Formats: sequence, structure tokens, C-alpha cells
Amino acid sequence: MTLEVLVDISTDDLDRVFDYEGEASVGSRVLVPFGNKTLIGFVLAVKEKSDFNGRLKPIIKVLDQPISAEMIKLIFYMKDKFFLRYIDVVRLLIPSALRFDKSASLKRLFLKPSDSLSASVSFKRAVKQAALAESLLSLGELSLTKAVEEYGTSAVNGLIEKGYAVKFEKELLRIPFKDEVAENKIVKLTDEQKKALEIITESEGLYLLHGVTGSGKTEIYQRLIERALSNNKTAIMLVPEISLTPQVLKIMRARFGSDVAILHSGLSDGERFDEWTRLKNGEAKIAVGARSAVFAPLSNVGIIIIDEEHDSSYISDSNPRFDTRLIAKFRAEYNNCSLVLGSATPDVETYKLADEGKYKLVEMPNRISGSHLPPIEIVSMANEIRNGNNGIFSYALTDALKSTVERNEKAMIFINRRGFSSFIMCRDCGYIPVCEECDVSLTYHKDVEKLKCHYCGRAYAMPSRCPKCGSLNIKHGRTGTQKVKEEIEKSIPDAKVIRMDNDTTARKGSHFEILDKFSKGEANVLVGTQMIAKGHDFSDVTLVGILDADFSLYFDDYRSSERTFQLVTQVAGRAGRADKEGKVILQTFSPNNYVFRFAKNYDYKGFYAKEINTRLVTKFPPFSVIVRVLCTGEDDKLAFETVKNIYLKIKELPKDNFIYLGAMRSPINKIKNKIRYQVLMRLKCEVADETIKIIHKIVYENKGKTNCFVELNPQSLN
Ligand code: ADP
Ligand code: ZN
Ligand code: ZN
Repeated sequence: MTLEVLVDISTDDLDRVFDYEGEASVGSRVLVPFGNKTLIGFVLAVKEKSDFNGRLKPIIKVLDQPISAEMIKLIFYMKDKFFLRYIDVVRLLIPSALRFDKSASLKRLFLKPSDSLSASVSFKRAVKQAALAESLLSLGELSLTKAVEEYGTSAVNGLIEKGYAVKFEKELLRIPFKDEVAENKIVKLTDEQKKALEIITESEGLYLLHGVTGSGKTEIYQRLIERALSNNKTAIMLVPEISLTPQVLKIMRARFGSDVAILHSGLSDGERFDEWTRLKNGEAKIAVGARSAVFAPLSNVGIIIIDEEHDSSYISDSNPRFDTRLIAKFRAEYNNCSLVLGSATPDVETYKLADEGKYKLVEMPNRISGSHLPPIEIVSMANEIRNGNNGIFSYALTDALKSTVERNEKAMIFINRRGFSSFIMCRDCGYIPVCEECDVSLTYHKDVEKLKCHYCGRAYAMPSRCPKCGSLNIKHGRTGTQKVKEEIEKSIPDAKVIRMDNDTTARKGSHFEILDKFSKGEANVLVGTQMIAKGHDFSDVTLVGILDADFSLYFDDYRSSERTFQLVTQVAGRAGRADKEGKVILQTFSPNNYVFRFAKNYDYKGFYAKEINTRLVTKFPPFSVIVRVLCTGEDDKLAFETVKNIYLKIKELPKDNFIYLGAMRSPINKIKNKIRYQVLMRLKCEVADETIKIIHKIVYENKGKTNCFVELNPQSLN
């Protein structure tokens, strides 16, 4: 038989599918001869005869079959829908261990005592060996890695050489966070929950669960998963990366035990491989994770859930670019199961689909146990300045923060900017330091006394005087998380402040540690960026402060109002969850903006009505499709030529297809030393699909050596 094999050449830019001779089913992982090398390949299709004239090389070996029939279909779907290369899709589906390690295996080495080892054996002065022997006798076995870690290689080898210990292989799966277990809370469903469940379980389909924060959506998800399992099916539950907290994991583990496998970016390659394998083997039946979990190797899927469906992390905006929700929809249709999107603030585009009946709308407008959504007080910062307050905290927030700390309760302070101040500027000559590689202003980080670029991470020394004119008069721009923390510590000595942002969570696990400290009360004020906005259910947070709520409002992006509304609602929802009433103080320079007026009343529908009307009038998505062709490269001239050619070709298309078409430098015109140009357009919906196909073709034919990306409704136009 002829096999179409995708050869995995990691450094290759081409999408290589070659014909080979052999016997293997579609989805198999095989070893093939390639040039003078042996490479790993994946069988994408099987056919009777090759078009290739000449003798086909035979494959060397069939290793296993990691790709199911469903996933093969998904590969073709994604290639067609998102214009991706096969290899980029396969990389999403397969743990890297299976791509690089021909012998990837689940076996781990263990150490156990031999028959000749007993408590009476004397090790004299070999203290470490004695300790290891004792632990082997009492535990029965130890993983080799652990034994080496705790007792050292020489102790381990010593015991083996003396014949007191033997190595053996055992299948052991590393289960991440396996110690995170909570009590399984058994609750009686509220009437609202009952009704929601009834609607969703009536028939297989697409559902939008619109429920306010604290309305008990998680319980609904769990019931749906239970139901799938009891029908001998499997389940996928996606949450935004950032809300994949110990709490979520604990709750899921408490109810479903080792049936749960967790997939997220914090796992090591080994852990990921193990979780993937447990799902593939059927040992675990529920995949919980961030967007990549949508590719969980499960068959017979009975339910797919996407929590916080509006979250931008579901859209991959770097290569390979795709929308997780469309992939979930594909899988739900393939498996003939329901897809449930849940949110307190649905994506305006999703809500429109529900409005049109394409998703069935299920509503939970009330919080569990009648606790109220916390009242939001809007404070005008312009008024504060008029009243002589030039600080970053309004009088109201300072007072509230003080009394919260005094009452031994907790507060969360949200500010969407990390670092100490967003930029520094010379007051005398106006000089603002920018990154040499990225053309963006640098952020001052006080803890390390450095200026950092938030696009490439490069750090620069903090100048003591202006590098341009030598002035000492340096002004700080907008406040960031570090400064907020410092200010609180200065004005409220009893506050134990902890900070959570990209800087403090860079190390693996640190994100969990911070939340854990806050949860246990080792800190009583949590200052953070939007990381703190999502899904953390702390029972004793009674105050939420939102500084600089306008921050995202004036972005040059059609989603800025929506984003701001979502953010404010999400952050506010963190206050007052259990028995204690909470309150929210929102600081802004535009107190009358409709976003805040609707947010104050948690009026999603009111906001939606206004927003969708604005989009209709201004012809922004979902009433058009924004397409950006981004061209980047180190060679400015070349990138410019490329973007020009592409632009001129696109311009030949019927004018009537476009609402807008233009070519320019990207707003941030250099990132990591790569120049960025773009063709930006807005397409009419009726012609969008066909036009996008043509644009892809134009880009493919004209890109040459420049990196070009076609983005649809991009999350950011930087
Ligand atoms: P959401 O995900 O909608 O924000 P959660 O699922 O976090 O809301 O629910 C909020 C709280 O209510 C949780 O502590 C949860 O355990 C609790 N809860 C959910 N359903 C019930 C119920 N039927 N009875 C009592 N408590 C419930
Ligand atoms: Zn200067
Ligand atoms: Zn940079």
C-alpha cells in the first residue's frame, strides 16, 4: 500500500508529505528513511497507488498510532479553516516526546530492596546508604530519580553494587498537582441550576450558558460531566490558562479523582506526555485544561465545556493561529455531543449567535444563596484632583482599604499595568527611553532598578540622568503594580500586600503559591493585573479596587468597550462571595462612559444592546471581518517590498468587497528587531470567506522570504 507520510522535520519550513510503501493505518507514527537519516513521520492517508514514478521507499517501522480518525479529520479541517500547515497542527495534537523521542515510553526506573537487605545489615560509616536502605525497607520502593535526589548517586550505586537493592521498571504516570484535593461538596441544585441542566440535557446541541459570577456554573459543568461518564463517554472542560488555579483542580479532583487529566502550559514535557497518555489509554476520561486541552486525545466525547468563553486566551494569536471555540464545535459535531460555552459576560459575537438562535441561550441571572453582586461605586478621579488629591488612590478607596484591613478581611486591587511606572520621561527635553529592538517605551521596574521591555523582555540600566540632555529631572509615567504595592504598604502598615503579575509569576508554580498565600491569609491585599480578575473564588474578599479603569477603554480597537466591560464585571465579581457582603470601588476619569454605567448595574444585556448597535453602525465585527496581513522581517526593504506587492494584488480585488483597505507600518513598528508592516482591511461578511481564501493565496504567492501572517479579527493590532 502507499502511505502519505508527514515527515517531521522540525527545522523545515515546508510542509512535507511524501509517499512511502508499507502497511500502516491512518494516524500511525512511523519511522521512515529520509535522505541519510531516519525520521519520525505520521501517516495522514493511505492509497492504492502513488502518482510518483519510480520505486517508493518502504517505511522502516510502525511505532504506534497516536492520531485517531477524528484527529485526522481535524487536521484537514484546521488546515482548510485556518490555513495552517499539517506539521503545525500535528504539533498541537501530539506531545513533544512523541515527536522527538523515538523510544518515548511510560516506563520509569524504580529501586527496591533485594532479599538480602534487612534491618540488621550494618553499613558502618556509609550513613547515606544506611538511610536509603532504611527508607527502602519501610517504603518498599522509591523512584530512582527520587532516591538519587535525596541520597545521592553514590549511595544508590553503592547499595546496588552490594546487592542490597535492585532497579526495576514500572509504569508510573506523573500526575500533576495530585496532592491538590479538596472535599467533594455535595449540593442540592437550586431551581435555576435545575432548569439550566434540563434545557442543556434535552438534546445535543450548542449552548451558551450566561450566568453571573457566583451563579453556580461550575456545578452545572460537573453535573454534565458526570452525566457523560455515566453514559460511558468522556469529557473536555476548558478554562482560561490563568484561572486554572489549584481551586479548580481541587474541585475537579475531589469529584472525579484520577479520571481527571490536566493539560496546561505549566507542565513539563514529561508531565504533559503522561497526562496525554492517560487520556489516550482511557485511564483518564476528563481532560481539564487551557486551550490546548481541546486537542485531548479522547474518543467518544460526551460533553465539551468552555468556561469564560469570552476570554481572549481561546484565540491563539501567534502561529499557529486558531479559534479554540471552532475546534470545540468541530469535535462536538463529530462526536454528536453538546458544546456548552459559559460566561458572565459573553463575547458580543457569541451572544449575537445566541440571539439568532444558533446557540441556545441558557440564563442564570442570580447568585447562589441569594447573595448579591457587590455594589460598584464609581469615583471620578478628576474630582479627586480638584479636591487636592493627586495620589493614585481616591479618598474613598483609601478609607475602604484601611477599614477592610482593620476588620481582618481581604482586598484585591486591580491595575492593568505591571512594573513600577509605565515609562519614564525627561521633564526638560521630553526624552523617553525605548527598547532598541522593539520601538516601544520601557517600563521602570523598581525592585531590580531596571528598565524593561515588555515585548522582548530585555532589561536596561535605569539612567540616573537623562541620556540625551543630562537633566536629573526625570518624571514617571502611569503607575504600575509595584508602585501600587509600595503605596499601600506606606499608608497602611498593617497591610500584608502580595503582587501578582507577569513578573511575579514567571517561575513555574509561583502563580499557585501567590494565590495560596492570599487564600491562607498570609497576605490580605492582593495587587495584580488582569491575572487576578478571573475565576478565583476567595470567600473573604470584601473589597475590590479598580484603579485606572479607563486604561483599556481608549485602545484603538473595536473591542475596547467590550473588554473593559468584561474586565470590570469579572474583577468586581471577586468581591463578597460567601456570607460577607462585598463592595467595589472603581476609579476612572470618564465616570459617565456607558461602559461603566452598564457595568455598575451588571447589566450585560443593556451593554450588549448598545454595543451591537454601535458595531452595526460603524460596521465592525460581527458586521464585517477584519483581516490583517502582517509582514515582518529583519530586512526593512524586503519586508516593505513584500507588503507592497501583497497590497497591490489585494487592491485588484473588487472594491465592493471591502469596507476599508489600507497598507502601513504596524503601530509598533519593530519587535525583537523585526520590522513590521501590515495590510489592514475590513471585509463585508457576505464575501468574507471567498475573499479570505484569495488573500491567503496572494500572500502565499508573494511572501518570498518575509514572514507573513493572515489574521482574522485579531486580538491586538500592535
Ligand atoms: P460561577 O462559576 O458561576 O461563578 P461557582 O460555580 O463558583 O459560580 O459557584 C459559586 C459558589 O456556590 C461555589 O462556592 C459553589 O460551591 C457554590 N454552589 C454552587 N451550586 C450550589 C448549590 N446548588 N448549593 C449551594 N452552593 C452551591
Ligand atoms: Zn533630557
Ligand atoms: Zn524589546
